[in-house]
Formats: sequence, C-alpha cells, structure tokens
Amino acid sequence: MVVILKKNAPAEQVEQFQSWLAEHYQLEIHESIGQNCTLLGLVGDTTRVDIDLLQAMEIVENVRRIGEPYKFVNRKMHPQDTVVDCGGVPIGGGHFTIVAGPCSVESEEQILYVAQRVKAAGAGLLRGGAFKPRTSPYAFQGLRGEGIRLLLEAKKATGLPIVTEIMDLSQLPLFADVDVIQVGARNMQNFELLKELGHCKKPILLKRGLANTLQELLMSAEYILAGGNEQVILCERGLRTFETATRNTLDLSCVPLIHELSHLPVMVDPSHATGHARLVEPMALAAAAGGADALMIEVHNDPTHAVSDGAQSLTPDAFDLVAKKVFAVYDCAKNLK
Ligand code: PEP
Ligand code: MN
Repeated sequence: MVVILKKNAPAEQVEQFQSWLAEHYQLEIHESIGQNCTLLGLVGDTTRVDIDLLQAMEIVENVRRIGEPYKFVNRKMHPQDTVVDCGGVPIGGGHFTIVAGPCSVESEEQILYVAQRVKAAGAGLLRGGAFKPRTSPYAFQGLRGEGIRLLLEAKKATGLPIVTEIMDLSQLPLFADVDVIQVGARNMQNFELLKELGHCKKPILLKRGLANTLQELLMSAEYILAGGNEQVILCERGLRTFETATRNTLDLSCVPLIHELSHLPVMVDPSHATGHARLVEPMALAAAAGGADALMIEVHNDPTHAVSDGAQSLTPDAFDLVAKKVFAVYDCAKNLK
C-alpha cells in the first residue's frame, strides 16, 4: 500500500503519522521524498488498514492499495485450487458437478421424484429451498424444518448430498445433517451469519449479492475463511442491471477472474441469472466451457404449478438433455486445455 502525502505536510506531523502507522498496524514504513510529494510505502499485512481513515487525514493526499484486501481467499496465499468436499462429492480443482432440484421443497412426492430424476441425469447434489427469501411477505415462505426433513428423506432414498439455504443463525441447529449450507444472494453481506459459518465444519455455498462487486464477494468469503472454515464455494447467480429482458444479468467473466484471484471453486447458477427456462441451457453450456467448477440448475416436476421460480425451472426431461450437453461441453473444454 502506498500513501501519498500532501506537498507541504509539516515534518513533525509526518513523523507522528509514520510512528502511528508502524505501531498500530505493525507495518514497515519506507519513506521516499520527492520534489513534489512524499510517498510512504507500507510493507506487511495491510488487510487491517482502514483506507478511508487514512484518506481523511489532513496530511494525506491519496492512498493506493497495491495488494488485495483479502488474504485467506487469495490465490497468492494458496496457489493450488481448493477442492470442496460436499458430502463425498468433490467440487473444484478439476472436479465438476451439477447441483439440481426445485427452487422450493413442496412435498415429499415432489422432492423424491425430482431427486430420483436429477440423480439419473447425472447431478451430483440435490438442491431445494426450505427457508425461502421472498420479496413479498405474502409469497410462499418455505416448509422450513419440515422442508429439511424432506430433503433428508430424498438424500436417504437417492444417496445425493443436499444443499439448502440458511437465512438466519437461529436456524443453524436444523442444518446438522445438511451437506452444504447455502448463503443466498440477499445474505451475502450478513456478516454475523458469515462469521458464525466460519466456525462450522460444513461446506458453504456463498452466492454473490444482487448488486455486489467481485471484491465484495471475495471479502464475504474472507469472513468465513478467517473463522477457520476453508470449505467455501462461490456462486455467480446474475446481477441486477438496467436490463429487464432477463431476471438478472449473468456476469460470466467473473468465473475466469475469480480463478485468477482466488483458489476457491466457482459455481454458476443460470436459473436465477436468467429467470427463463429456455435461456438456462445456453448459459449453462457457456459456463461449463468458461471454467465453472459446478452449475446450479432449478428442476421442477411441474414448473407451471411451482410455488416459486417456475418460469426458470426445467422439467426433468429437459434437464436430462441439458445435463448431457453440459457434461459433453465440460469434457471438451477440459481436453482442449
Ligand atoms: C435460491 O438459490 O433458491 C435463491 C434464492 O437464490 P439467490 O439467493 O441467488 O436469489
Ligand atoms: Mn429459486
């Protein structure tokens, strides 16, 4: 990190500032005095440095961060890919899978049928919402504890590990037998939740917020890793932009970028990203070709009567076909490397 000091900063204040920086943040300070300004090079772990605080100081002209503000998620700290063990199914580091299932768990027959169908099509994990974050308080809110119980029944019947979303810390005891805990887009910056999940031993699927930068996503993951839990998968699920033709705008370019910046696996969710079932296949194929380590696809036995997200859900028959093509494209891209 480099701090540029104002041209006429009083020497005494500069000296005090340097000692404070060195002591407060445990950094080495390298001063270089030029004709027009003085530069301070801050060497050491600058992740704790509060840039806004430095910038507000009277003698400071500007502050530039050279390194990244995250360390545990940084590929520089951990060059090899992290492989996340999702109840026996690996994701990352060359291990690819599809997570599939309904938006919401609705009934025992529904989840058992969908679980069997997505398993037969080659999905590695079963998804299903039990706690649903809905825009309207009058919309279906999920079967809650009963939804998790039904997911566990489907796991027993098919052997598929399960992924489901937590919305609040108070729900954590219900997740004891859940294989992967999902933090949804709306909770990506629920820092208390992230801190607590940092202390748990389960893999976390962290979805990117509706209007969050890549750096913010990585900083949220940093909360979990800093707490001691290194089993985190990042998920791109589309961003809110000015475009209204699709539910969100899929930022596929973040996939190779995350691979550059971080060792964590990346999942792409073309269902929530597009909001339209017919757009799921082309975006799923693009993600599989573009380096995603996993996909999340919503599948419903009867999309027109789904209690949530029917418009973006594939029928099991449609998923059969999409999964075949996705695996073929993934293998093809892998062989081209
Ligand atoms: C979901 O996966 O069911 C979901 C609500 O997704 P998101 O948090 O990405 O909107
Ligand atoms: Mn959904």
